[in-house]
Amino acid sequence: MFSLKSFVKIVAFSLSFILASCGKGEYDKEKLFEFKESNPEFQYYQDAFAKELFARSGRVVLKEVRINLVEKLELGRIGICKDWGSVGEILIRRDWWESERISDDTREKLIFHELGHCLLSRGHYDEKVGNRPVSIMNTYVTNDSIYRALREDYLDELFLNQRSSIKDSLSVHAGTER
Ligand SMILES: [Zn+2]
Repeated sequence: MFSLKSFVKIVAFSLSFILASCGKGEYDKEKLFEFKESNPEFQYYQDAFAKELFARSGRVVLKEVRINLVEKLELGRIGICKDWGSVGEILIRRDWWESERISDDTREKLIFHELGHCLLSRGHYDEKVGNRPVSIMNTYVTNDSIYRALREDYLDELFLNQRSSIKDSLSVHAGTER
């Protein structure tokens, strides 16, 4: 039988996946640069982000962003972007990143979300159609398959602030969903 303590732990752990949020701006400004360089694991996502940005806007990424895994972030947070001006730092919670419950698409979504803060100066945008976020800049990063299906629309929203396509696509999707 589960003790109350382990039950609370399990609930807290489950919530950390449902309410996986980003903590933009909530960091200790005294604590500059936890890392001197990026974990190479994230280069793939940085390249993909730069490619999609360029394809849509002709803009190139000039700023260095260091992305690394950490053991702990504030309760419920899975990612954080610290924008230090000419260099940005993104910290991702290791247990979330390495969890088998998280899809590769959701990993991309989180990194693109954090890079949206660090490289595009975007804040959170929490509009929804049905129960689906219109933007990957939603405060909460959901682990779902809709991102893969509507990736182009989501990236148009991210890079160009174009919301009509993703809203139309989500409306159609909501209509066919049981
Ligand atoms: Zn965020």
